[in-house]
Order: sequence, then C-alpha cells, then structure tokens
Amino acid sequence: MASYDYDLFVIGAGSGGVRASRVAAAHGAKVAVAEEYRVGGTCVIRGCVPKKLLIYGAHFAEDLADARRFGWNVPDCDFDWKVLIKNVLDEVDRINGAYTDTLNNNGVEIIQERATITGPHGIRLASGREVTAKTILVAVGATPSVPKCPGHEHGITSNEAFHLESIPKRILIAGAGYIANEFAGIFHQFGAHVTLINRTDVILRGYDEQIRDRLLQISMMKGIEFRFHADFQGIEKLKDGSLKVSMSGHEPIVVDCVMFATGRDPNTADLGLETAGVELDAKGAIVVDDDNRSTCASIYAVGDVTNRIQLTPIAIREGQAFADTMFGNKPTRVDYENVPSAVFSHPPIAGVGLTEGQAKAKFGSAKVYTSDFRPMKNVLAGRNERSLYKMVCDSETDKILGLHMIGPDVPEILQAAAIAVKAGLTKAAFDQTVALHPTMAEELVLLR
Ligand code: NDP
Repeated sequence: MASYDYDLFVIGAGSGGVRASRVAAAHGAKVAVAEEYRVGGTCVIRGCVPKKLLIYGAHFAEDLADARRFGWNVPDCDFDWKVLIKNVLDEVDRINGAYTDTLNNNGVEIIQERATITGPHGIRLASGREVTAKTILVAVGATPSVPKCPGHEHGITSNEAFHLESIPKRILIAGAGYIANEFAGIFHQFGAHVTLINRTDVILRGYDEQIRDRLLQISMMKGIEFRFHADFQGIEKLKDGSLKVSMSGHEPIVVDCVMFATGRDPNTADLGLETAGVELDAKGAIVVDDDNRSTCASIYAVGDVTNRIQLTPIAIREGQAFADTMFGNKPTRVDYENVPSAVFSHPPIAGVGLTEGQAKAKFGSAKVYTSDFRPMKNVLAGRNERSLYKMVCDSETDKILGLHMIGPDVPEILQAAAIAVKAGLTKAAFDQTVALHPTMAEELVLLR
C-alpha cells in the first residue's frame, strides 16, 4: 500500500478549509493546511467580519441623528475613520489568532506558504519542499473580479477598502450586488458621496423584486446616486489625483475613489489542477459531485472555489460534511434548499426560499402575504423609511415557500423565521403564534 506524508492536505485556511482540517484531525487524520496569506480567509480577514463591524460603525450616523428626537442632546460629532479601522483590524487579528489556536489545538500542521498541486497526491510548497497526501482538499476561495478596462488599476476592491487612509469624498462603486450595496451604505453613512453604476438596471439579482425596489427607493432618498445601463469604459487619473470614469450611456464622472464590486472569481489559476486532471467549469470553478469530489478521485474542493453558493456558512458546512464523510465514518451531504441570506445594506435585506417571481414561474401561481409598515422607532425619529415583509406560499396548501424582508434588524429576525420555512410550516403556524408586542418581528404573525 502506498504511504503518504499526510492523510489530508488542505490548501487554503479560510472558512471551509479550517473547518475541514480541524474536524478531520479530530477524527484522527494526520492533517496539514497550507495558507499563503492569513488563517481565517476572506470572511475573517477581508470580508464578513470586518465588513459587519464597519456596518455597525456606519449605523451610528443615523442612530446619533435619531437620538435627538428621543431627547438626547447630541452635540455635533466627528467621526474618525482611523480609530474605527484600527479597532476593526485589531479584532481581525484576534480572530485570526483564535482560528490559528483552534488548528494547533487539534494537531493540524499549519504551513504558511503557497501550495500548488503536482499530481493526484502531490503538493509543492513555495519553498520548494514536496509533500504527498492520500487526499487533497482545495479550499482556496475566490477573489474579486475586476473588469479589464483601461485604467482599471486605479480602482480598488473590497480587499483594499479596509486599508483606506481616509474616507473618500466621492466614490464610485461598480456593480449592484451584495458588496456594492453594503459598501454604498457604509461610505454614505461616513459622509462620502456615493455613485453606484451597473451594467443592467437590476440590483441584487436573485432577491425579491419588491424588496429590491424598496432598497433602491430608500437608498436614493438617502442620497446615494444610481446609474443604470452604464458599462464601464475606463478610468483616467487626473493631475490632482482624482479619477475620471467613463461609462456607456452617461456623462463621465470625476471621483476620488473607484471600487469594483463586480463578482468574485474562483482562485484556481496557477494551482496545478491540470496536473491531476481536475475539471473546471466555464467560470474557472472546480467541478465537484455531491460529496465534494472533483474529477480526480483523490482531490476534493469546498467553498467559493466551487462556486455553488458563495456564502461562509455554506463553505463551513461543506468542510464539515467532507471531513465527517471521509474521516469520521459519517457520510453527510449539504442540503442547499432554503439557505437564508442577507445583504447588510442600510436598511438590510434578508430572504429565504423562493421569491414571488420564482414561485410563480415554478408553480404557475403563489399566494403572497405582506406587511408594509413604518417601524415605531422610525416614526418617532421622523425617519421616512418603511419596512416590507413578504411571505410567499403555495396557493393550495399555504406551505411557506419563501420569506423576504427589508427593514431594521431583518437578518436577525429572518434567521429564526427561516427555521419555520426549512421545517416546511404553513402560514397557519405563524397565524397561531401570538404576537410579541410591540416588536417589528410580530408583523410576521400578522401578515395579510
Ligand atoms: P454579486 O454577484 O452579488 O454582484 C455582482 C454585480 O456586478 C452585479 O450587479 C452584476 O451585474 C455586476 N457585474 C458582474 N460582472 C460584471 C462585469 N463584468 N462588468 C460589470 N458589472 C458586472 O457579487 P459581489 O462582488 O457583490 O459579491 C460576491 C459574492 O460574495 C456574492 O455573490 C455573495 O455570494 C458573497 N457576499 C455575500 C455577502 C453576504 O452574505 N452578506 C456580502 C458580500 C459578498 P448583473 O447582476 O447585472 O449581472
């Protein structure tokens, strides 16, 4: 029988790779994980975690303004970006340390180097060292995709947003998906003039249309500018350092910063995958089966590099399922039905299951119940922002097919409500539940 240096060699210590490594090691496997940058990956180092902390920081702009209507004598406040970003990056360091400790405590060898594949069981490290493993797991994630227009090198991506020296006075964000809408809210609250441009007129494709329209309306009311059917043509750096951006269908615009938020590409370039016959799809993602196995029998992949659903909790579940199946004698597959998701815009959006449009396309019809209301806190604050909750049900059985919300704290509310949707409950189960008054969440049991 062939012998290998490791039972499992994981490339990439992000959400999926860390979970798979530590669980496989806990099941008794000899595991190493290679990471070329920092343990924690996109989510911890330059994604969900620091982004959410910026969202909290940004929200104080509105909270401080609203506080006056609640009797607080709030003097004119200054915001210091340097203080916030230092504290956020310190927190990132703390979590990076905690992840590293978890791997060490589980006996996983951490190799701080880039690793590439040399064959079905072979890995070469940047230092030149060659190692072998019975099984290889690729969990290298994805990287921001930047349209290759002239001058694109003058733009930044969300990676660099956490390291800006100051908040730009004028920023143009390209794209209208998750990152564009989240950072539009962040920069706007910190005082920047934000222009969001997109090649189509659809923001947040995949979310419920009415909910998206509500976000668009509120964002425009706040002063965020949108330009649609605007294809990026180029960026010219002017003498004073500002950036002139040209786009189709609109006049050029001069800004201080351009941020690309136009999707993320799987990190499969120059990884040596071809040496092992690992098939990639048209977007460069590793093609895997339901057990995360690639077209090479000893190589598996989890997380964003497979481009199934690019969300941290999915990568974590895939890593766990892989480790339990391969090393824990517990065959497990990830269930991709009814995955809740949220956009941490201002206000946030959250959804689970089919949108009204998707349900009608799939079943021909659907019953839709809504609540369109102004949260009590917004009323007193004089803030003219209405929340919208939508429940999409099967027109015959009233089984809930989807739940879609926009308004304060909806990601927190939806996480709990998603359990009911996942459990296959009907609207009647919500109606039978007594309202918890006064809350915003009670609207879920009072839908009409
Ligand atoms: P999204 O896929 O959400 O949005 C991409 C946007 O860029 C869309 O508006 C799209 O337009 C546009 N676009 C795509 N390609 C081009 C191109 N070549 N030229 C011009 N415009 C283009 O990607 P993001 O970058 O915002 O985020 C990446 C992923 O990260 C998300 O899919 C999500 O899974 C994950 N993420 C999740 C978050 C969360 O859970 N809260 C937060 C941040 C990221 P169109 O729709 O018209 O094609």
